[in-house]
Amino acid sequence: NASAGAGHGGGHGRHVLVFPLPYQGHINPMFRLAGILHARGFAVTVFHTQFNAPDPARHPEYRFVPVPVAEDCDKGVVSGPGAGEGIDGVVSHILALNAASESPFLDRLRAVLEEYSRDAVSCLVVDGHLLSMVHVAARLALPSLVLRTGSAACFSCFLAYPSLIAQGYLPLQGSKWKMEDEVSELPPYRVRDLMRLGKHELTRELLARSVAAVDASAGLILNTFDALEQPELAKLRRDLGGGIPVFDVGPLHMLSPSAGASSSLLRADGTCLAWLDAHAPASVLYVSFGSLACMTARELVETAWGIAGSGVAFLWVVRPGMVAGSEGLATMPEGFEEATRERGKVVEWAPQEDVLRHAAVGGFWTHNGWNSTTESVCEGVPMLCRPHFGDQTGNARYVEHVWKVGFEVVGAGEELERGKVEKAIRRLVVEKDGGEMRARAGELRKKAVECTGKGGSSDLAVDALVKHMMSL
Ligand code: UDP
Repeated sequence: NASAGAGHGGGHGRHVLVFPLPYQGHINPMFRLAGILHARGFAVTVFHTQFNAPDPARHPEYRFVPVPVAEDCDKGVVSGPGAGEGIDGVVSHILALNAASESPFLDRLRAVLEEYSRDAVSCLVVDGHLLSMVHVAARLALPSLVLRTGSAACFSCFLAYPSLIAQGYLPLQGSKWKMEDEVSELPPYRVRDLMRLGKHELTRELLARSVAAVDASAGLILNTFDALEQPELAKLRRDLGGGIPVFDVGPLHMLSPSAGASSSLLRADGTCLAWLDAHAPASVLYVSFGSLACMTARELVETAWGIAGSGVAFLWVVRPGMVAGSEGLATMPEGFEEATRERGKVVEWAPQEDVLRHAAVGGFWTHNGWNSTTESVCEGVPMLCRPHFGDQTGNARYVEHVWKVGFEVVGAGEELERGKVEKAIRRLVVEKDGGEMRARAGELRKKAVECTGKGGSSDLAVDALVKHMMSL
């Protein structure tokens, strides 16, 4: 139904140009947003790097424009999603990609604008980490809208970062505050929940650039929804001073006509859906740590035996490169396969949205990337949290403390250990406590359905976004 809205949805065939950050957790929401705008009558042009390039064949309705950048940058410091590099490598890569893309993007954008005629183009929708592209668009007098793929609370943390440094919360090393201390200006975050991306200086630069991108934009698009983050959205609008419109159009995957799998960089193993069919409702634990988070070989062993020891049926995504220092598939501990053959399945990549939607799934052990967190909430699936870096710690805080739909497997600084894993899984999937979390997640699911339904807050936010885009 991607073209159903053409001519009726407000876009009237005007062009929108999009440029996602080439990482899975950023590509997915940008393609979902593109799907929504296309259904509202916009023609979509996708600018992309060769690194993690999308497959044009899966989106015949869009135009694709490659932006060639220097070879070392196009390969990326990570050779694919999660090649075992630390997060420092990803942050440096994002900064390098900005610098390297600037001039080729200017050439490509100029050519496209000449071809379409300026009036036919509404704006550029660009990932919040691509400040250089906002600058390029401004040079050609094209307005930009920024898509932030994290929560509203997360962006407030970005805005507060300089003040947190000034108050001595950060950098954590040498901080006068304790990890469990609350951050008074950012409740409910504790010090340990604050955004961290490896080296302090790199994090500071990345966040400052993201704030600058929003400041220079004609609007901020957020993959969140009113019922999930009402006070956070109100605070963010206050913090931004009313000068920049904020469009809370999430959860994008529920509004978008294009299926999630269509922007997946790895091929999803669909056999897990038939496997889930054979299981009782809410009886299976789904385990996945997204596209970048890695674990040590020791953590893999403890995770495996913890899952085995819980006695709960499981579907576990073990992606190539997930174990730090290894490029290929992880070697599972000896005896694990025999011990779990009857009730477990390991895949390299799953059709996650379909998995979470499946009635057999009773819990999700996640790294709390924002996409995974919202996808879980919107299917009423409670979570076991094991945040790794970035906004994941803050997202886990909301899951446990605000929405009360999950809890952390182990506390901050505690080692992952099979006994604790076993207990946590049983608590989530089998015990009463977990059942109550599932019920609360079910309530959130209902709210997500309301928000995305006709006249709901996100549906109205899309209307407002389209109107705004037509005014640019
Ligand atoms: N995903 C998937 N299959 C998997 C694991 C993840 O399709 O086996 C998708 C998931 O649905 C989500 C995205 O990959 O949309 C991961 O984004 P998230 O923000 O959760 O984490 P990141 O990968 O950015 O750390």
